[in-house]
Amino acid sequence: MSPSPFGASLRRLNIPAVAGGAQVRFTPLMQKRLTRRAEEMIQRSLRYFPELQGKTITVGYTRVHLGSAVMSRKRDSEPRLVIRLKVRNLTYQTIGHELTHLVQGLSLGDRPPPAYERIPTGETQCDIWTMARDPLFCDDAPTYIKMPKIMRELWPKYAITVRRLCVAAIAKRSSFRPYIRWLESQIAELARAPRREKSTPTQLTLPFFD
Ligand SMILES: [Zn+2]
Repeated sequence: MSPSPFGASLRRLNIPAVAGGAQVRFTPLMQKRLTRRAEEMIQRSLRYFPELQGKTITVGYTRVHLGSAVMSRKRDSEPRLVIRLKVRNLTYQTIGHELTHLVQGLSLGDRPPPAYERIPTGETQCDIWTMARDPLFCDDAPTYIKMPKIMRELWPKYAITVRRLCVAAIAKRSSFRPYIRWLESQIAELARAPRREKSTPTQLTLPFFD
């Protein structure tokens, strides 16, 4: 068997690629703007969303900084799942966030998944569940989770720890309602804690040193 038969041949035949069981359609505008890199990022992201298996997702183009996601539902028909993405500087964070919105939408549908699989509605919730899904989606700081500015500036240093806190917050949610407040206080704490790395440009002078 040749190692990578499908992606390339599908592209040649112009058949929508099946990614993680989801079918992706690009709007005409997006087809014009789409880069190979962006397309690969979208396909790769979808592999982490088994909830979207068997669905058709329309991917459109937007110029605004953040993407958007819409789920429209006509009576007696499958919901239409649409996300819009900016191609320039596209991050897995943004793709994951918009796909998570679709999963949130499906939780509200006629055939919702079991309660333990449902993702609660809301932007901060969307960020938390996106971060927790996979380290892939931690390539940029989430938009809605409150965090100190320094953390956004030095995001790669904090990404994995913040992700762990998101996973912990989700586990806490069943027994502790203010889990978002808990998460954000832990994150604030993390920024206050002295970092072990010596990469900070300004060194504090500690009075205790001899
Ligand atoms: Zn959002």
